[in-house]
Amino acid sequence: MMTRPYASSVTVQTLEVLTETNNKNTKKFISTCKESEEKQNDIRKKFEFDYSKYYFGSQLRWSNITFLIILHILAIHGLLNYEYLKSKHHVYLVLWSYWTGFMGGVGVTAGAHRLWCHRAYKAKLPLRIFLMGLYCMAGQNTLYEWVRDHRIHHKFSETNADPHNSKRGFFFSHIGWLMIKKHPEVIEKGRQLDLSDLEADPVVRFQQRYFTVLKLMLCFVLPILVPLYFWNVSWYWAVSSQAFVRYTISLHATFLVNSAAHMWGNRPYDKRIRPVENLTVAIWSAGEGWHNYHHTFPWDYRASEMGKYNPTTFVLDIFAKLGLAYDMKAPSQTLVKQIADKHGDGSWGDQEISEKDAAALLKQT
Ligand SMILES: [Zn+2]
Ligand SMILES: [Zn+2]
Repeated sequence: MMTRPYASSVTVQTLEVLTETNNKNTKKFISTCKESEEKQNDIRKKFEFDYSKYYFGSQLRWSNITFLIILHILAIHGLLNYEYLKSKHHVYLVLWSYWTGFMGGVGVTAGAHRLWCHRAYKAKLPLRIFLMGLYCMAGQNTLYEWVRDHRIHHKFSETNADPHNSKRGFFFSHIGWLMIKKHPEVIEKGRQLDLSDLEADPVVRFQQRYFTVLKLMLCFVLPILVPLYFWNVSWYWAVSSQAFVRYTISLHATFLVNSAAHMWGNRPYDKRIRPVENLTVAIWSAGEGWHNYHHTFPWDYRASEMGKYNPTTFVLDIFAKLGLAYDMKAPSQTLVKQIADKHGDGSWGDQEISEKDAAALLKQT
């Protein structure tokens, strides 16, 4: 019979010694682990601290800063020096600037935001092409980048992974985030996002491919040529009104949603999050200021409750009537009330609800 050679050589004493040594090693191992965990935390804290310094210091994006400063100087100059009521053509140019700003805005809100980012409704090909064209008029990033940044913003709101984290202050969340390199967590989390729906959309791919030409033509060249041709205004004012004044104001309209709509206002739907309801932002951004609602129900194509100032929703309802937009998603008023009662700050309060919704609520209670 085979015997295990070592079994007989292990006496009780040696077993005790072995166990003690083993225990010591385990304790040592655990304490080393704890120590290294503490060390790692210390390093992480220090690293994070250094990061903020690093990011506000050597990681400035000077090309963007220079561009934005020059753009603002030219826009302010245009705003202050334009003779608004000199002739009817001067008035037309103002109205044209408002119109191009509004249409570009709808491209951002109805297109990039509610359609491509949140998939709050579906759009037929002609409408997708139209909205992509309008979006290009606003002169922002590629659709792909816009949607990626906004999806991370919703998923990791007010963390380092949020591209315009409002906890870093008004300036950072408004425009400062474009002036410094992205926090590594934004890049890391951005890579993990599923953007396959965008990659599968030929309209998004087309916009990505011809981004520069489309932006130049639809945001600047065409809006400048129209007043030149029709109203015989000077080159200077045609360029100033479109490329500097309208463009800068429309950028700020979008920026306000990331800054002011995360800071000043009430939280009727969810008081646990930072986004707020802000009428001023809604006015400037074609209805995107109802941000507490939007972060609570991001999949609602209206981005606000009924009855709130929301021109984008008005436009989308027209597209839906024309059959170009469909599968418009929106929660029932009953659900909205339940959520507001449970998580809101109490300011939703006495809104009236329809008889049908009241009956549904009664049934549930
Ligand atoms: Zn937001
Ligand atoms: Zn959103």
